[in-house]
Amino acid sequence: MKLEMTGIQKSFNQTPALLPTDLTLEHGKFTTLLGPSGCGKTTLLRMLAGLEQPDAGEIRADGQCIYSAAKRIDIPTHKRNLGMVFQDFALWPHMTVYENVAFGLKAGKQKSDLRQKVNEALGMVRLQGMEDRYPHQLSGGQQQRVAFARAVAVRPGVILFDEPLSALDAVLREEMRIEMMSLVRDMGLTALYVTHDQIEAMSMSDEIVVMQKGRILQKGSPETIYSAPSDPYVASFIGKSNWLTPNQSMVRPEHVTWNKTGHDDLCYPGTVLSVSYVGERYEVRVQMEGLGVWTAYMNQRMCVGERVQLYVAPERICRMDGY
Ligand code: ADP
Ligand code: MG
Repeated sequence: MKLEMTGIQKSFNQTPALLPTDLTLEHGKFTTLLGPSGCGKTTLLRMLAGLEQPDAGEIRADGQCIYSAAKRIDIPTHKRNLGMVFQDFALWPHMTVYENVAFGLKAGKQKSDLRQKVNEALGMVRLQGMEDRYPHQLSGGQQQRVAFARAVAVRPGVILFDEPLSALDAVLREEMRIEMMSLVRDMGLTALYVTHDQIEAMSMSDEIVVMQKGRILQKGSPETIYSAPSDPYVASFIGKSNWLTPNQSMVRPEHVTWNKTGHDDLCYPGTVLSVSYVGERYEVRVQMEGLGVWTAYMNQRMCVGERVQLYVAPERICRMDGY
């Protein structure tokens, strides 16, 4: 499903949560809303789902209007053909795994058909044999798998995730991230994923939408967002950035070298502040002369306090427009 939002906005008690925003989710693509807490991610997702009414603007699904403030169109959530997965799993505690997954599937279906669809969904998330358990008898990861199975059992046109992994511990989070990403891709689902975790956004998405204070700063592939951030905030929020001038140009740590490699390389002096072994290499923080602190990588240990020269090839410098 292709989703197009134009000019949608929302205020709560006269305070804008989302400024007028345009956003298109392409069919079959995994799009992530990335930004700090309070920037409007959940508000945007809830408006798409029909759980929150925009103050203005329009939403179209495959060209058909599902919300328009001006035309007074507002298709209810259950008719928007979407699945949702939340941080708190939102399973029914008094229902078994089977009943939770079956719940979303329309009533009136043949019983055998229903059973088959539930089993299929549970099979996808590797929870066969757990049909009769209750949510409290499952681990956090298993509960989130049930929530996912319930959301996709209806074969929705789009699946919406709101920080689905943030209640899980780090190891499980990474496992689930890979699992959910593969399932969404294999099913060819259109997905909108909300997170404040840049690693999650970078590793899962086809498109990342970086948000701050109720607006979209940049939309692009993870590679574009990382290598060509359009805004200093985006540059600082994703990955590490070494500033050459305040808020105007920066270079990523992997493009800082310890020797001159090209004829035009620029040279910057500094003093080693700290050295951390990060496996395979050392991450070195250097206080640059007349600039801030940079991060660079080194294949051998450096001494704290050592004076060094760092080099940057001009073509590796990333300039931010409009600053
Ligand atoms: P995020 O999901 O990025 O953390 P939200 O969309 O939840 O951000 O919130 C954006 C802003 O809108 C915040 O300042 C939040 O306090 C406010 N907000 C969200 N929902 C409500 C609500 N129901 N009533 C009042 N303010 C709200
Ligand atoms: Mg939120």
